[in-house]
Amino acid sequence: MKEQPSVITSRSIPKSRRALIGLTTEQLREKSVELGFEPFRGKQLAEWLYQKRARTFDAMTNLPAAFRDALSANHTIGWPEVVSTYSADDGTAKFLVEYADGNRVECVLLPYEDRAGVCLSSQVGCAAGCVFCATGAMGFTRNLTPGEMVAQALVAEDRLVTQSSSATTRLSHVVFMGMGEPLWNLENVIQAVYLLNEEMKIGMRGITVSTVGIPPAMRTLAEEKLQITLAVSLHAGTEEVRRQLVPVARKYPMESVFAAADRYFDLTGRRVTYEYVLLGGVNDTKEEATALAAWLRGRPAHVNLIPWNPARSISEFKAPHREAVARFRNVLESVQIPVTQRFERGRGIDAACGQLAIGKRRR
Ligand code: SAH
Ligand code: SF4
Repeated sequence: MKEQPSVITSRSIPKSRRALIGLTTEQLREKSVELGFEPFRGKQLAEWLYQKRARTFDAMTNLPAAFRDALSANHTIGWPEVVSTYSADDGTAKFLVEYADGNRVECVLLPYEDRAGVCLSSQVGCAAGCVFCATGAMGFTRNLTPGEMVAQALVAEDRLVTQSSSATTRLSHVVFMGMGEPLWNLENVIQAVYLLNEEMKIGMRGITVSTVGIPPAMRTLAEEKLQITLAVSLHAGTEEVRRQLVPVARKYPMESVFAAADRYFDLTGRRVTYEYVLLGGVNDTKEEATALAAWLRGRPAHVNLIPWNPARSISEFKAPHREAVARFRNVLESVQIPVTQRFERGRGIDAACGQLAIGKRRR
């Protein structure tokens, strides 16, 4: 398996028409000066992009026409085309977005009564090939830029403001649990985290980055000392079962994944979340639960049990029985490991994790 380079070049976007979403307020100030305007115009521009979610330069009414003309001659806004939107009765909405080069990803808005979250994609496809994951079945196409990730959050927040019945109009939570492996696009994901925090005003503690378990990248992320949550997709208690489900486990044994997760806690003080997709009859057994409990005992951990969602095109698995989920949970709780069970949302629109997959655009 080939690891992906962590930096993306924007070769496909002509330099003269680079997207503005993705630039910081500071960079927009510099941009303003570069085009012959005052720095505060850059600050106003940032507000249009990240607070008011403007999609056209014409909408930026307090900016001088000459500034808007100069901007549009050199840049696009970077708002992706929302190709389709699917909504469920519980308010969950899934968006299929298309970028300038025709690549598409999905993101999901999860509104609750007093808060709202979004699940972002970090890559087009994924190279990890976990056997139960619809995105994994697609293979890898390319990394997303920081601006392309932030644009998904803007699309979701726009929906929250215009159409949701939720009391809140701002996103409070972001999870990088959509398509792709965020830690194989780490530099861009870190930049996206800063933009979400500084420009979209989402608290660091409301942001979660989920990884299949890439120890070197987990260590690099730890060094950044962000107050975000790191979620590690474990899916097994034993090495043997993990290797069957998660091909990268052959390269990175559990021992090394836990050591990197411990390092993350040491450097950030943030308790690590372990995600566990329960596949009926495969990894929901008492043996796996007991083995997992042994790994986690005494570790500052939290387990998120995710009953497998029948993903598009992957049929060889089945969801766990209710009793198996309860037994699994009991084994962990008996050794004081906090467990949460993922609340099922977005039924009927395939908006659950691992159900995000999309064919390439035909041109
Ligand atoms: N690549 C990262 C983040 C994206 S996947 C990772 O693997 O952690 C986000 C989560 O959804 C992971 O825990 C993943 O294992 C889980 N997932 C994948 N397919 C799923 C499915 N069909 N049902 C439930 N969860 C799934
Ligand atoms: Fe990639 Fe995560 Fe799916 Fe595995 S579960 S294939 S790492 S997106």
